[in-house]
Amino acid sequence: MNMDNQQGRGLSFSQRIYVPRTFGLGIGCVCMMPTFYPLDMPAWVWMLFLASGFAWPHLAYLRSSRSRYPYRAERRNILFDSVLGGFWAATLQFNPLPAVIIVSMMTMNNVAVGGVKMLLRGLAAQGLGVVVSWLVFGFAFTPYTTPIQIYGCLPILVIYPFVVGMVSYRMAATLAAHKRTLSTLSRTDSLTGLLNHGSWKDLLQLSFHACKQTQGDATLALIDIDHFKRINDTYGHIVGDSVLRQFSLVLKENLRADDLAGRYGGDEFCVILPNRSLVQTQEIMERLRSLCCDFRYLDEPELRLSLSIGLASCQPAFDDASMWLNEADKALYIAKNTGRNKISVGCADLLTEAVLPKA
Ligand code: GH3
Ligand code: MG
Repeated sequence: MNMDNQQGRGLSFSQRIYVPRTFGLGIGCVCMMPTFYPLDMPAWVWMLFLASGFAWPHLAYLRSSRSRYPYRAERRNILFDSVLGGFWAATLQFNPLPAVIIVSMMTMNNVAVGGVKMLLRGLAAQGLGVVVSWLVFGFAFTPYTTPIQIYGCLPILVIYPFVVGMVSYRMAATLAAHKRTLSTLSRTDSLTGLLNHGSWKDLLQLSFHACKQTQGDATLALIDIDHFKRINDTYGHIVGDSVLRQFSLVLKENLRADDLAGRYGGDEFCVILPNRSLVQTQEIMERLRSLCCDFRYLDEPELRLSLSIGLASCQPAFDDASMWLNEADKALYIAKNTGRNKISVGCADLLTEAVLPKA
C-alpha cells in the first residue's frame, strides 16, 4: 500500500507525530535543564540544546508536510530524533536517569512507528549521535543523578507517556470506527442500502437454525418487480435505479426493525420475517404489493410498478436453509407464471398453491 503521498496517510502520519514530538522534546528540554546547567556549556551548545527542544519539532513538521513524500520524510525525522537523543544522552555525560529516559522514549517512538526494524535503525541513529557528541566534547561519564535532577525528570516521565497514550487511543478509536464502516459497507448493497446477497444468505442460515431450535415462526418472502426490464428499456437505467431505491425505502418502511431485508440481485428482493406467521406475512406483503400498485414516479407519471411475491414459512421438515429458500423461490415462480402482481404461498405451507386475491 502506498502511504507516501501529499494528500493521504503520509501527511496524516506527520500530523500525528507533531503533537507528541512537540510535547516530548519541549518538556524533555526543560526537564533536562538541571542536568545540562551544571555542565557549563558554551552559548552555542545552549542554543543547540534549546533549538532541539523547541524549534526542531516545528521544523520537522514543516519538512515532512512540505515534502513530496511526507511519510518517508517523517521517518527520516524520527531517525533524526534518535540522533539528537544519542547526542544529548552523551553530552549529558550519560547521567543515568536522563540517559535512560532519553533511550526509553526514543525506543517507544521507534517501535511504535516501525516495529523492530525501526528500533534497530533508531539504535544505530542514537549510536551516531553518541559518536558525534564524543567527537565534539570528548567522552565523559557521570555515574549518579542528583535529587534535583531526579525531580527535574519527573514531569517528562508523567506527561510524555500520557500524550503518547492519548494519541494511540485516538488512533485506535479512529481505526475501530473505520473498521465498523468497512464492515457495514461489505454487508450492504450500495444501490439500495439493504443487505447484500452474501450477508443476507448468512443471516438466512442463522435465522433457519434459530427457528429450528426455538420451533418458532419465521417466514421468508422473495419479491420480484414485474417486467422491470421494460421499465429500464422505456425510461432508462437511471430511472430504473431510482425505482429500485424507492422500492427499497417503501419495503423498509413496511417492515419491523428485526426483519431482515436484502437485495437478492437485480430486481429481486428477499426478506426474512422472524416471529411472523405466514398469515401475518401475507398481510404485510399484501400491503406492500398494493402500495407499489399505487406508486407514482413524479418525473414519469406513466410508470407503473407491480410485484410478484413468493412466501414460505420455516417448516420442521426442512433439513437446511436452502430448502426453505427453494420453497419461497418455487412460490415466486408460481406467482410469475400465473399472471404476476400477486402473492403465492409455498407448497409445503398449503400443499397446494394459494394466491391471495388482488386488492
Ligand atoms: P419478470 O417480470 O419476469 O421479473 O421480468 P423482468 O423484466 O423484471 O425480469 P428480467 O430478469 O428479465 O430483468 C430484470 C432486469 O433488471 C434486467 C436488468 O437489466 C435489470 N437490472 C438488474 N440490476 C439492475 C440495476 O442495478 N439497475 C437497473 N436499472 N436495472 C437492473
Ligand atoms: Mg423482475
